[in-house]
Amino acid sequence: MNLNTIEEVRQATAVAGGDVEWRDGDSWLAGGTWLFSEPQPYLRRLLDLRAMGWQPLESSDGGLRVAATCTIAALYAFPGRPDWPASFLIDECCRAFLASFKIWNTATVGGNICMSLPAGPMISLTTALEGVYIIQGLDGAERQMPALDFVTGNHQNVLQPGELLRAIDLPAAALRKRAAFRRMSMTHMGRSTALLIGTVLPQGGAFTLTVSAATPRPVQIVFAEAPDARALRERLNEAIPDDGYFDDVHGAPEYRKHITHYYAEQIRAELAGAPA
Ligand SMILES: Cc1cc2nc3c(=O)[nH]c(=O)nc-3n(C[C@H](O)[C@H](O)[C@H](O)COP(=O)(O)OP(=O)(O)OC[C@H]3O[C@@H](n4cnc5c(N)ncnc54)[C@H](O)[C@@H]3O)c2cc1C
Repeated sequence: MNLNTIEEVRQATAVAGGDVEWRDGDSWLAGGTWLFSEPQPYLRRLLDLRAMGWQPLESSDGGLRVAATCTIAALYAFPGRPDWPASFLIDECCRAFLASFKIWNTATVGGNICMSLPAGPMISLTTALEGVYIIQGLDGAERQMPALDFVTGNHQNVLQPGELLRAIDLPAAALRKRAAFRRMSMTHMGRSTALLIGTVLPQGGAFTLTVSAATPRPVQIVFAEAPDARALRERLNEAIPDDGYFDDVHGAPEYRKHITHYYAEQIRAELAGAPA
């Protein structure tokens, strides 16, 4: 839609170059799939991040760096590596969008994370893969934080005005883990009601379960070794009380709790088995 309050669109490089000073009514523009999908009455100026020219994906033995401006389509095209069994999660999470091909080709990984919706599949992916977010301030200084700590609630995150998400680092140690993925949506190609990912070290040991979409922000529980069904159920109940589940048209809290426990047990059983 036309955003009729916008007076100016500038390249984001103008901020770094000192030509533009951040002010109230400014917003970073990535793919624009959300920004242009509804009125934005408080916005006056858009600063287009695509001008940054960041390399979308950088793969090395240390892991995978995903630029915030990498599109979902470009991430989906990443072939993975044979020594990174968990890289199949990239495909699964890209497919977890309520989205047409137009959204896929335009929406960015960073835009999805910064939207900070409970059903943001790039949040699920990067949290489960122990991602580290690189956040850049207006002075160019960078800080890092675990993906798990970034989203603070429905459509809320830690970014201060003018800060931007520069990149996401996915460590090779997490990509080398065995992983299991489960997702429920009320409709075909619909928004996620619950999205759960479990990971274990290749030879067994520490077991990590990440719950997203069912809760306003991701919840992660870690066991030193694969738990039994009862221990898992108890830890889930401690980590997510009954009023900790998200409530919207894509699922009532009681249903989300049921699905979360159901899938968590499936993931536990799957990863408790011997490596393939
Ligand atoms: C039909 C449709 C279906 C959708 N389905 C889903 C879905 O299933 N799940 C879901 O989570 N969302 C969904 N969305 C919402 C949205 O389109 C996606 O979250 C998308 O990934 C946003 O990415 P974008 O690059 O288009 O962001 P934009 O629309 O450009 O920006 C979104 C917000 O993030 C900020 N932002 C973007 N990049 C950065 C950055 N690097 N640093 C700081 N701030 C930044 C912008 O200022 C803006 O506030 C859907 C939208 C539509 C229209």
